[in-house]
Amino acid sequence: MGRMLRSRLLFAVPLVCFAASTMPPEADQRLARDIYKEMIEIKSGFTTGSTTPVVDAVARRLRAAGFPESDIFIGGAIPTKANLVVRYRGAGKLKPILLLAHTDVVEAKREDWSMDPFVFTEKDGYFYGRGTADDKAQAAIWVANLIRYKREGYKPDRDLIVALTADEEGGGPYNGVSWLIKNHRNLIDAELCLNEGGRGEMVKGKRISNSVQAAEKWYLDLRLEVRNKGGHSSQPVPDNAIYHLANALVRISQLGFPMKVNEVTRAYFAGMAKLDSTGAAPDLAKVAAGDQEAMQRISKASPAWNSMLRTTCVATLLEGGHAHNALPQLAAANINCRVQPDDSLEYVMDTLKKTIADDQVKISIDNQEENSPGSPLKPELMRALSRLTDTMWPGVVVLPTMSTGASDGRMLRAAGIPTYGVQGFFGERDDNRAHGRDERMLVTSFYEGQTFLYEIVKELSTAR
Ligand SMILES: [Zn+2]
Repeated sequence: MGRMLRSRLLFAVPLVCFAASTMPPEADQRLARDIYKEMIEIKSGFTTGSTTPVVDAVARRLRAAGFPESDIFIGGAIPTKANLVVRYRGAGKLKPILLLAHTDVVEAKREDWSMDPFVFTEKDGYFYGRGTADDKAQAAIWVANLIRYKREGYKPDRDLIVALTADEEGGGPYNGVSWLIKNHRNLIDAELCLNEGGRGEMVKGKRISNSVQAAEKWYLDLRLEVRNKGGHSSQPVPDNAIYHLANALVRISQLGFPMKVNEVTRAYFAGMAKLDSTGAAPDLAKVAAGDQEAMQRISKASPAWNSMLRTTCVATLLEGGHAHNALPQLAAANINCRVQPDDSLEYVMDTLKKTIADDQVKISIDNQEENSPGSPLKPELMRALSRLTDTMWPGVVVLPTMSTGASDGRMLRAAGIPTYGVQGFFGERDDNRAHGRDERMLVTSFYEGQTFLYEIVKELSTAR
């Protein structure tokens, strides 16, 4: 942390110093809150809204703060899905750092919520509104911190690039990150990227862990299809499309892909072994060491842990038959796979074919998202995160994670920009309302996250 904190240590009691270190100056809190409120109240729903008014509002603030027009870029796949990229110039000793957040939100209906999801509401220590957690807190803070750096005359050793992008929720043709990679790679090219996906976890108000998302599984939909000539159901034959499909599905239900750890999940399980209070700690430590029997037990203890240890494939949709009194001519199912970063498409398809062992069941790819490698857990990055986390929240463990879902980080990783989910926003373990009703963010967590992101970007932008 900064020189100011250290000098205060000499004069103030530790409690005062701790409070001073986690909260930004009041003027900067106000600025971040104003930007946050403005963003929340713009309806940028993934299907019904536009992200362009969000980035236009940000551009106005940046211009007013003295950012030159030449360092502000606005553009996107279509006029209503604009992205913003702004560059804060540094000394050029290091390659730039990219600070990413998406500006679209999952749809929210007034009647589903206790309050209007598009009116920024502060109540009982929380900020409420669609996007308060996913992902407008980080978007607002990147902007507020950039304006603060400028006011303070901060000179980083590298350029800081903030990119606010469209359509992370559900992806699709207007996704801002893939559009920028394809059309304006030079604007966002960076040594590393900080993004959503990291989360601070609290249990009953006690801060436990600060996660760093460094890898993601990749998404794959496969269609199983069986076709028969059909016929009258009063004269059945053994060769029945529905039976072929049903047998294939039963076999898939009994399939367990091999379990293994990678760099990120190994670090995750090692960290969890230190945090766990359920009695699983010894097994978690063994999982980190690659012990297969411990993996068996841990995978049974939690669907989330199971999914971190292996590729999974599960039946999610079913169709078949055309009449009550006819033999089926078609039976089909969707199999949704979440694949470990180092498992290939061919490997997954081969495994399923061998498992099903029935030539009549045809397997085709319905939807395949790009695979992306995990981001390396660079020692200097991990040290910086641990040091800052421990300074702000003594005793809190930095926990690398691999998401079993997906974010825009996978596209940057695939494009060769190592991406890390780093936020420093703490919330209760069982109170994750992103995408749900009454989405919220603890007021203190918002401002602490502001400080955390302000400091970590400075730390990572100093040449050593
Ligand atoms: Zn998000």
